[in-house]
Amino acid sequence: MIKILSKLLSVFVCLCMLTVIVPGVCASEAFSYSGEDSLRIASSDKQIEEISQPELSKAIFSIDGATTDVKTGITLDSKDTDELEKQYGVLNIPSTVLTYDAVSFKTVKLNKEGENSIKVYLYGKEYDLILERSNFENIDDGIDSYNGYIKGLDNSVALFTFDESMGKSLVHGFIEFENEQVYVVPVQTRENGLKTDNPLHIIYSSKGVANPTEEQIAEIEKIYSENTNRLGVTLPDAGKFPITSDLPSSYSPSSWATVYVLVATDYEFHELETNWVSSAQSYMNHAAYQYQRPDIGVFLNVAEYDDSKKAILSNDPRKTSDPFELFREKFPASYLDSKNADIAVYMGGNDITTGEFATDQGMAFGYGRYPDDECRYTWSQMVADNVPFYGFVYDGSLNARRYCVIHELGHIFDANHQDSQGTNKAYLWLENTVQKRSVMWSRYLGTTNICEYSSPSYHGDSTHDNAGAIRAVKHNIAALV
Ligand SMILES: [Zn+2]
Repeated sequence: MIKILSKLLSVFVCLCMLTVIVPGVCASEAFSYSGEDSLRIASSDKQIEEISQPELSKAIFSIDGATTDVKTGITLDSKDTDELEKQYGVLNIPSTVLTYDAVSFKTVKLNKEGENSIKVYLYGKEYDLILERSNFENIDDGIDSYNGYIKGLDNSVALFTFDESMGKSLVHGFIEFENEQVYVVPVQTRENGLKTDNPLHIIYSSKGVANPTEEQIAEIEKIYSENTNRLGVTLPDAGKFPITSDLPSSYSPSSWATVYVLVATDYEFHELETNWVSSAQSYMNHAAYQYQRPDIGVFLNVAEYDDSKKAILSNDPRKTSDPFELFREKFPASYLDSKNADIAVYMGGNDITTGEFATDQGMAFGYGRYPDDECRYTWSQMVADNVPFYGFVYDGSLNARRYCVIHELGHIFDANHQDSQGTNKAYLWLENTVQKRSVMWSRYLGTTNICEYSSPSYHGDSTHDNAGAIRAVKHNIAALV
């Protein structure tokens, strides 16, 4: 049995200067539609009006018959965001987004059983979006997630969460194709979303966001390497795990494991999101998608979205100094057991601003603490970081959040960073001369971070095999409750 090693913390620090980087590209290229200003906003009217269907949306992505343009082709330097905020209240738009479309949605009717084929438009071109319900949760709350692809776009991935629970339509969408990602996110606060019949969403592309340059990435990595192991962080090397002897021998790495997750939040995140449950579910949809890859073989199931202690978490000053410890104290193992949850994720609405963890955006003791209860928890920061210089790379966007949630979950399953001493290392590779990093990379560096675990089956090799690490310990985690 490996002795418990010291505290594992993932320390993604990141940052910026990003507010200054405004590539001259964006708007005009990304939204190159011709002569079609006739739709939507009457220029003489200061009020922004929604134009109803059946006009075709001019957003970079739209769902046929369900997407209504509010204003498209908005750039960072325009006054359009101010105008939108007059009507919709403060908008939760990541600081790195340089250009976006503002839209609302009508109900998208989907079959929960079997395959759906939905007509969509991507940059004005018609496609079929193929979606099947994700089976990571079975909670009947009017919020359902789907996964699939765009027919005709090789290796494309689509992950969607549709929320009708508030009697209005919220859509969380993600499409990956070629070297680009497109994001669809609700951007109103809960209070303002409740007051709006058709809550506002933004749609933007990874090509319309500010990313750190290679030089800035090098600088961030340098700062990180100087701070690394400041806490003597270590995880067991992959392949040397304490396997509990009372598990049936049929629990081999090739058989599937089901792990139940409690997802909890605080008051700040609860209020920040139009509906925090569908936001949280969308990130769990991204996580479940990775865990269900055949070489990992884990059904990651949500046991409950739990906001019952949101005030308790938010009234404790540790929310900005040690949210992990706070979470563990308020959600003790007996509580997780009562919810039939093996593990627990705290999606927090606060940035750590004081103490030794001030630069961190996620925390987990990880498998280094197994079988101690401490191995069961993770905290992921859902808001932008404010560390001077490299803080703003971590912008609280969908991409940052999903990376952070999947990264911290990985630690529970013994996945580790690029500097692991074992075979459970994160992986770096080149794709069309662009650097890509697997999700266990110790820093969030914008769209260069991919949300998959290193694996010889896709990106990795025998010494960069976090999928193998997860596969090896998954039954231990699944047996926690
Ligand atoms: Zn980490």
